[in-house]
Amino acid sequence: MAQTPPPRIAVIGAGPSGFYATDHLVRAGMAVDLFDCLPTPYGLVRAGVAPDHPKIKSVARVFERTAAHPAVRFFGGVEFGEAITRAEMLERFTAVVYAMGTELDARLGIPGEDLSGSHPATHFVCWYNGHPAHAHRRFDLGGAHAVVVGNGNVALDVARMLVLPEKTLRTTDASDQAIDVLAASSLRRVSVLGRRGPVQSAFSTPELLELGRLDGVDVVVDPAELRLDPHSARELAAHGANSPAARRLALLTEFSRRPASPGNRRIELRFLRSPVELLGDPAGERVSAVRTAHNVLEADLDGRVVARPTHRHEVQSCDLVIRAVGYRARPVEGLPLDPRTGVLRNVAGRLVGRDSVALTGEYVVGWAKRGPSGVIGTNKSDAENTVTALLDDLRRGRLNGRPSAAPDEVRAWIRRGVPASFGWDAWLSIDRHERASGEPLGRPRVKLTSLAQMHAVVDRARADAVSDSARLAPRT
Ligand code: NAP
Repeated sequence: MAQTPPPRIAVIGAGPSGFYATDHLVRAGMAVDLFDCLPTPYGLVRAGVAPDHPKIKSVARVFERTAAHPAVRFFGGVEFGEAITRAEMLERFTAVVYAMGTELDARLGIPGEDLSGSHPATHFVCWYNGHPAHAHRRFDLGGAHAVVVGNGNVALDVARMLVLPEKTLRTTDASDQAIDVLAASSLRRVSVLGRRGPVQSAFSTPELLELGRLDGVDVVVDPAELRLDPHSARELAAHGANSPAARRLALLTEFSRRPASPGNRRIELRFLRSPVELLGDPAGERVSAVRTAHNVLEADLDGRVVARPTHRHEVQSCDLVIRAVGYRARPVEGLPLDPRTGVLRNVAGRLVGRDSVALTGEYVVGWAKRGPSGVIGTNKSDAENTVTALLDDLRRGRLNGRPSAAPDEVRAWIRRGVPASFGWDAWLSIDRHERASGEPLGRPRVKLTSLAQMHAVVDRARADAVSDSARLAPRT
């Protein structure tokens, strides 16, 4: 008797949360088609993690094993919501898991934010990581002073990349174009602005430690900005003496005592400062200064310590502004996006409509589910929780009840919408090519940064495989 094929689940987004969801699904006996808008997998591991953090990227080896599972297929270069719609997905799969992350930047909402020279961190980070949709961007690093807004790890990544010595840059997998621009930068000073105090900063201690060890860079902290107001003192006491906040404060205090070294570049960590306006040059086109307000801290109705701007302002000239103040999910036709939080509306991973009723067969994982928080590993348990909800719904007959479309039918449908999608073998050809290009230079890889280059490499690998098999075929 023919065996019933397993339910087929679509996972949209091949970043960490998509891979962890795929892994949990195949372990439960499901078949998974994993889609990504790029020909290359791994999402933020490839396009977000800083190039000088190769250890963090080694998690890709775990994802490679998931991709090698016989029940998993990869369709790269497939833009969900464009060639392939949500309704079409729902017709063909038992369930759809959205793992699309939060690719849009949160806005400051201040005058001058869109002046040339003011950029969201998403653009800068994706540019230096060679993301094909951002490789064309231009960053003018010809000035002296950059301002980075935000007090999270993305702000620290950006600040560090702006001052990284050329010899370090040239050992990384940052894009060649970005390395050349960063190496030629004349920036001497990077100010990182936190709207709240040191106790509320969102940096991790290892990232802060790393900043303090950079060659040729002074980390400068004003001891006056480390003085704790009563709210911060209470918060710190509640966290305890060994908490991350206490360790951060101790480290910042140590930085504040370091003497400056003449000739070094400076990263200034400022607290209780919010940009209230970006000012343009005389032509009103390029950013030339930032007006910041001094903030005081107070508790809101929920007891959360929040920043309140005062009327004390300060104007400082600057040549570049990078806004690293969080991310939001990209709206997709038909998907319930919560405008307040910027994530897909969900209850424990089940997508819900405005009425809080669950949408049949639609789930979410990762940053699109909980917002941009946590480290890569956080997505593992997060995905497991969503997959548990999905399996529970399947068991209780809460899904659409139709059999999933056959694998060949899905493939033919994708081919109609996206004639040149990329399978896992295509990615492996790109991966081999990038690594081989990096090896003689002592770099992990030299990234291909355009779809045309990727197509060319894949086509060449296919042609080589055909000619090899013709050469090796026995003569008849
Ligand atoms: P984040 O940790 O949430 O930090 C966002 C920062 O932006 C906060 O300091 C926040 O301040 C500030 N902010 C928000 N709105 C603002 C406004 N209007 N004006 C001024 N400041 C504002 O987010 P992230 O840095 O984007 O990082 C996202 C996640 O990725 C985090 O979990 C992070 O740890 C992780 N990540 C990890 C690494 C690593 O492990 N090496 C590297 C990069 C990212 P408030 O606190 O006052 O809201």
